[in-house]
This record gives sequence, structure tokens and C-alpha cells, in this order.
Amino acid sequence: MQDYKFFSEVNQAFDKASAYTRFDKGLLEQMKACNDVLHITFPLEKDDGSIEVIHGYRVEHSHHKLPTKGGIRYSLTVNEDETMALAALMTYKCAVVDVPFGGAKGGVRIDRRNYSDAELERLTRRYAFQLSKKNFIGPGSDVPAPDYGTSSREMGWILDTYRQINSDIDAEGCVTGKPLNQGGIRGRTEATGRGVFFGIKEACSNAEDMKLLGLEKGIEGKTFVVQGLGNVGYHSALYMIEAGAKMIGVAEMDGSIYNENGIDLKELMEYKKEKGGIVGFEGIKTLPDNKAVLEVDCDILIPAALENQLNEKNAERIKAKIIGEAANGPTTSKAHEIIKDRGALIIPDNYLNAGGVTVSYFEWLKNIQHMRFGRMGKRFEENSFKKILLVIETISDRKFTDKELEFLAQGGGEKELVDSGLEETMVLAYNEINELRKVHGVDLRTAAFISAINKVGSMYEGMGIFP
Ligand code: GLU
Repeated sequence: MQDYKFFSEVNQAFDKASAYTRFDKGLLEQMKACNDVLHITFPLEKDDGSIEVIHGYRVEHSHHKLPTKGGIRYSLTVNEDETMALAALMTYKCAVVDVPFGGAKGGVRIDRRNYSDAELERLTRRYAFQLSKKNFIGPGSDVPAPDYGTSSREMGWILDTYRQINSDIDAEGCVTGKPLNQGGIRGRTEATGRGVFFGIKEACSNAEDMKLLGLEKGIEGKTFVVQGLGNVGYHSALYMIEAGAKMIGVAEMDGSIYNENGIDLKELMEYKKEKGGIVGFEGIKTLPDNKAVLEVDCDILIPAALENQLNEKNAERIKAKIIGEAANGPTTSKAHEIIKDRGALIIPDNYLNAGGVTVSYFEWLKNIQHMRFGRMGKRFEENSFKKILLVIETISDRKFTDKELEFLAQGGGEKELVDSGLEETMVLAYNEINELRKVHGVDLRTAAFISAINKVGSMYEGMGIFP
């Protein structure tokens, strides 16, 4: 849609929610504004020796907390408006889940499939160099992470480039989502999808809310459709299936597929890897276009690709009872009203996909504390548990087997601590926004914005920035 303005869509949702808050107009305007907007162009030498001009962006939306935080996207959709919208969403997202960062976002306008690995490396390093030169990256100022079209590999290149030009003892904290051997953290790759799963699970555990949707409590037995099998979509689907949900539809760039009896995720991923797409996957019905599957009858629809996927064109035909926004901005404001008025529950992006930035926060803490979580306490905890089990053995006839001892006396290592911290974060935040939803009689997106505005606003008030 040509007239689609993502930043104004985000601001519309903000405005709607701000009516339920106590802040005056000026402060609200300050909260909405993007503090710093950077647009750079730089040359990329292609493998054949030709030169291409590359457009890169970085937006720091809010400095109410530092560092600012947000991913770097490689996509042809990247422009100033998109980057501003995504940076703003990062501010609100961090506030909703109590991650103490301001929001930022970066992007490079390319279709990564058209570049060799060597070209991508040169481009990423040059972009990182420019960010560093302009003070748009640093462990205490602005910390990028992966997003659509980037992964831990690009983050490793960014760290290496940053370290070459800055002698900073906390350099590892200049970017998150890094490979494990370069200061990354266990669980970051799957974190966004894992958070999506925890969020949907929490929503589904509320019997009263499920009843209103005509659904049973719990994830088990529910049908779902996922759009996008990238990192976020794949991991969301994986944990949903592990918990007993049935994946009946998948949309990808090349088309969409549907099977009411369920689709095998592992086999589909193998097929996709081999063929580069999902169309033609054995025995599964291919629908007419790559968005058709979003309209099938299912309990949960998980858009996990890009913005503006559920819009005026298809909103009337979306039948899912729950929309789990794994992507950023997948539902336009008009589509949101249409789908909500039909009685569906929309679990908004600025809450549901916050798992990624939550674990990024843990990674950043690990980097600046220069120590892995669990290193100090794991063995101590294990020994304490063993002592308790020993006492139980002496006061009862119960003798524990070695296997039981190992299971019962487990201390928290990095992986377990990250997972439990993520679950705690998602569960707490869901209940906070669900409570606001009920108190104000609003939808969940408005409730998430109310929560974010209250937290960011009171931070500004506390700073006394208005002499
Ligand atoms: N790109 C992810 C997002 O949109 C993660 C950001 C981060 O970890 O900083 O939330």
C-alpha cells in the first residue's frame, strides 16, 4: 500500500492510549519524537569490481534510558519512516517488559539474497564503522542486535569492527545477539520465538478470556498458522508444537500451504532448505498466493514476517480468534479495529515479541559484568540442594538414586537462568497489560501503550528535564 505510513500508525496507537494517562500534551509529544535520526550512504565494492551506493539508517528514538537498543534490518522495505517507527516500537516494547533501555533501530536497504557473503561482510563492517564514527553505537550509548535479514554472524562482524576502532573495556556490550564464542549468550537465537510462545501460553492460560473467545484454556490442541519461517517464526512454531498445538498453515515468500491435519515442521524446514521455498512440499495443499493461508479458520494466527500484513485488504477475512504479533507492526490500525470488533484477541507486538530484547538485555549485562550467569552460584546451589536431600534421606526411608539426585539437585546454569528470566518477564508483563485492559475497558495494544507511556512518562518527570 503506497500511502502506508508506519511511524504515524505507531503514533496513532500511542495517541489512543495517551488519553488514559495523566501526562500533558507537551510531554507526550516529547515521548513520541525521535531524538536522533541518521541516514548515511556509502559505497560498496561488489565482487565484480563495480560500485554500488548503499543506504543505511539508524534512529535513536528515546534517550530517557541509556543505552538505546534495537535491531538492524536488511530489507528493501528499509527507509527513514520504517526505521523511525521500529525505533519507537522498541522504546515502548522495552518499557512494557521493564528492560531499562531507550528504543532504537537500524537498517540497510538491500535484498540480502543479491549479495555474496564477502559483499555482506564488507557492507556490514562499513555500516558499523559509520555508526561508530557518528557515535551511533557503543555499550553505553546505542546497542544494535539482529532483526529481519541479519543474524549472529553480522553481529560478530559489527563487534569486531567496533573493537578495531575503540579501546573500550566493555566493547563486547556494543552489540547483542552475537555468536556464543564472541560474547553471546545461550538462548538469544531462539529468544524472540520463545517469548512469543510464553506470551501466547500466558494468554491461553486465562480461562475467562478464552471462554469469551469460545476456546478452551491452554495451548494443547489449538490450531495455528504462521507467516514467515525465519528465526522468529520458526522458533515460535517449534515451541507451540512442543506444547501440543497443531500447525495447519504456513506462509512464506514463495507461497502458502495448508493442511488441516497438521504440517511437520522439521520436514518442512528440510524441504525449505533444499528447495529455497515451501511450495510443493509433499502432500500439502498449496494455496493461490502467499497470503491466502492467513485467512483460513484457525485458533491462532502468528504473523512473524514484516509490517503491514493484516490490513484493510484482508482484515475482514481473517478468521483466527487470537492474533499473536511476532513481527513488528504486522497489523495496521484499521485492520486492528476490524479484527478486534469481530471479537478476536490481538496480542500486540510491543509486548509479544519482546523476548528478543529481553535476552539481549541479559547478554549486555553478561558483557558488562564480564561473567557468565550461573558461574558463581550454580555449584553452590547444587551442593545446598544435595544437603537438603541428604537430610530427607536421613529422616525418612527414602533413598534417592544417582539420577534422581542429579535431577533434584540441579543448579541454574546460563541456559536455565536465561529461560527462566525470559518466562518471568513475559508472564509478569502479560498480566500487567491484561489488568490495564480490563481496568480501562480497552484492547491489549492500547493497554500495552498505556503501560509504556506511564513508565516512560514517569521517568521523564523524575529527570526534571523541564526547568
Ligand atoms: N530486533 C529485535 C526486536 O525487534 C531485537 C532487538 C534487540 O535485541 O535489541 O525486538
